[in-house]
Amino acid sequence: MKAEIVTMTAEHPDRAALERAGEILKKGGLVAFPTETVYGLGGNALDPKASIKIYAAKGRPSDNPLIVHIAEFDRLTEIVTEIPQKAKLLAEKYWPGPLTMILPKAPVVPKETTGGLQSVAVRFPSDRIAQELIKAAGGFVAAPSANTSGRPSPTTAQHVIEDLGDAIDMIIDGGQVGIGLESTIVDFTEEIPVVLRPGYISLEMLRETLGEVRMDRGLLITDSKVRPKAPGMKYRHYAPKADLSIVEGPTEAVVAAINGYASDAEQAGRQVGIIATDETMEQYPKGIVKSIGSRAEEETIAHHLYEVLREFDRCQVSAIYSEAFYTPRMGQAIMNRLLKAAGHKVIKVSQD
Ligand code: AMP
Ligand code: MG
Repeated sequence: MKAEIVTMTAEHPDRAALERAGEILKKGGLVAFPTETVYGLGGNALDPKASIKIYAAKGRPSDNPLIVHIAEFDRLTEIVTEIPQKAKLLAEKYWPGPLTMILPKAPVVPKETTGGLQSVAVRFPSDRIAQELIKAAGGFVAAPSANTSGRPSPTTAQHVIEDLGDAIDMIIDGGQVGIGLESTIVDFTEEIPVVLRPGYISLEMLRETLGEVRMDRGLLITDSKVRPKAPGMKYRHYAPKADLSIVEGPTEAVVAAINGYASDAEQAGRQVGIIATDETMEQYPKGIVKSIGSRAEEETIAHHLYEVLREFDRCQVSAIYSEAFYTPRMGQAIMNRLLKAAGHKVIKVSQD
């Protein structure tokens, strides 16, 4: 099967194509579409066979539940049994937007969609193409990121074509996504809300609205037996093909260390990849150097992370070294992804 590719913009959605896409989803087919976070691989969330197809297309383990996307807040009551007051508050503030909430599921949501769990992850995306598609499909679209499992999430339709072009029915090309990192996931099945995956909406922003919020311990403790509560967070993810290490410390020391690795590699007849920023790019004379964005505008770093990881897959590099990006607001989300891509390989360097 070769996916049909349709192109449109949020300003000028192609109604006829969206109707067709909605029909494909209603019949149990798969359609990839843009959202404000990353591209999603959509299937009818209430059709167990569609969910099984999503897992197969991505090569995703079937214990890793899918996020159900809605396009009208009022329809949330159809798929959950309870909406706690705090969840309502958060939805008022951040929906539509890059926020996913875990709530107790209604029986209509099949266990295939929730990976066997009694809870369901729900998101109301702000992207207009996504909203129109969800409505055309009947209101509930299960959509994980539209990449092959384990690869970096797709931020352009081209990335989706690379990974899934032969495995699904249609790809809606709506251009490059805005944020570039997956949604923040907040679990409301416990007394105190818990962040299961950091994202554009930071812990501090959540605390402003909700008061007490915890970070899932499985996210903070990486080398212990504590498992993350979101089943998907335990898998190595977002991984580029070459071995990636993060070099952490004062900027000057990081630059010197990475330049050392680049020289060693060159002497051995190899070449390394370097993930730098606009601010440091010029300081790396050797290797293939790519800027991920500017530290002065941290959104640019989030926006380009997956693209840069994918670009290195097309380069002949023996290893990749990246600076660390603990930026003020999105640093937690960016580093969560980068650490997973690196399999938690961190080289700490100091000034001397
Ligand atoms: P993706 O679809 O690639 O954005 O990943 C969705 C993430 O949400 C994965 O890490 C899942 O494990 C997590 N998730 C989905 N549903 C639930 C749920 N009911 N409880 C906990 N985590 C969930
Ligand atoms: Mg994913």
